[in-house]
Amino acid sequence: MFRTAIPLGRWAGVVVRAHWSVLVVLFLITDLLASAVLPQAAPGAESLWYWVTGGLTATGFLASLLLHELSHAAVARRHGVKVRRITLWILGGAAELEGEPPTPKADFLIAVAGPLASLLIGGTALGGAVLAAGALPPLPVGGLAWLGVSNLLLAVFNLLPGAPLDGGRILRAVIWWRRGDRARAGAIADRSGQVLGAVLAVAGLAQLLFLGQFTGLWLVLLGWFLIFAAQAEFAAGPLRERLAGLRVRDIMNSSPVIAPGWWTVDAFAEFAAGAGHERVFPVMSFDGVPLGIVSLGELIKLPADARHATRVVDVARKDQAVTVVGADAEVASLIDRGFPRSGRDLVLVTQAGGLAGVVGADDLAWAFELTALDHRPRIAGGRTSTFDHQSVT
Ligand SMILES: [Zn+2]
Repeated sequence: MFRTAIPLGRWAGVVVRAHWSVLVVLFLITDLLASAVLPQAAPGAESLWYWVTGGLTATGFLASLLLHELSHAAVARRHGVKVRRITLWILGGAAELEGEPPTPKADFLIAVAGPLASLLIGGTALGGAVLAAGALPPLPVGGLAWLGVSNLLLAVFNLLPGAPLDGGRILRAVIWWRRGDRARAGAIADRSGQVLGAVLAVAGLAQLLFLGQFTGLWLVLLGWFLIFAAQAEFAAGPLRERLAGLRVRDIMNSSPVIAPGWWTVDAFAEFAAGAGHERVFPVMSFDGVPLGIVSLGELIKLPADARHATRVVDVARKDQAVTVVGADAEVASLIDRGFPRSGRDLVLVTQAGGLAGVVGADDLAWAFELTALDHRPRIAGGRTSTFDHQSVT
């Protein structure tokens, strides 16, 4: 869902990105403000100024959404939970954590930080609007007041008790704290999220059909997303439990076929034809530093006459487009990072700056299926077949 997002920058090591759908939000909010909210709050101004104030206020709203997510991220880091990245998209923001909060208290504080930030921003903006009411022209005051109210609503909405909303996380933390069972608490919060999603979707549908308000469509979308996300989390719960304690080094392939980054695409394709049945490869520098990954599918996209002149590293996926984990990371943490697609993606496993191995779709499926049979994967270093092929041919 978030694969195609535009990076906006970094904050304390956390990548901040925006999905293209944010532009839709920006436009819808600007339109709502310029054609309905602001003309009512400050009648008689020129149309241009409604649009300018609307645009600025909408941008301010997205900025406050970002602050909400950054608050989650800051508290998560304080509790030793790494934050992979923050993505803004059509239904708000998402801070992607790597791994689970260690204690119910950490779980609670990470969850509550976002709504608290929104409450603070909302209160400040609304207070500012009240104070500035006489001193400033009504147009900026109207924008500020809307920003305040929308942030307060954002806080209240996020506190609704269903996963994956912040309120659902809080519910999970409290049940976890009371009963001492993290998995059970998570399952209850997920079920609650599904019910909440259904209620929101039905309410949105009613608003759309009976009141003819198009904002109902957004509520339907949001409800549908909640049902979907809560269901996915619920389904992943038992898997997470089964994988507990299993490390990436236990399931990785420690002798993958390597793509030398400085080779030409032609030379590498010739090599790959005799190097086993792999379709995705880790790309390495001459000094043995992992640079990224490349798939045969990506090589195909290159024009045929460019293959002899293009280096593998120039077509490789690098940086944020590649998942990199340490060999000691929990396999369960890979669940949160988007499943590698067969023949297209590969997780790079690093140790002391070098490549320790790779995890592909099949390696993960192998671990999932074995643990479902109540067996622990126990081939340290993974498959060795690729090297055998190389020596035989
Ligand atoms: Zn939040």
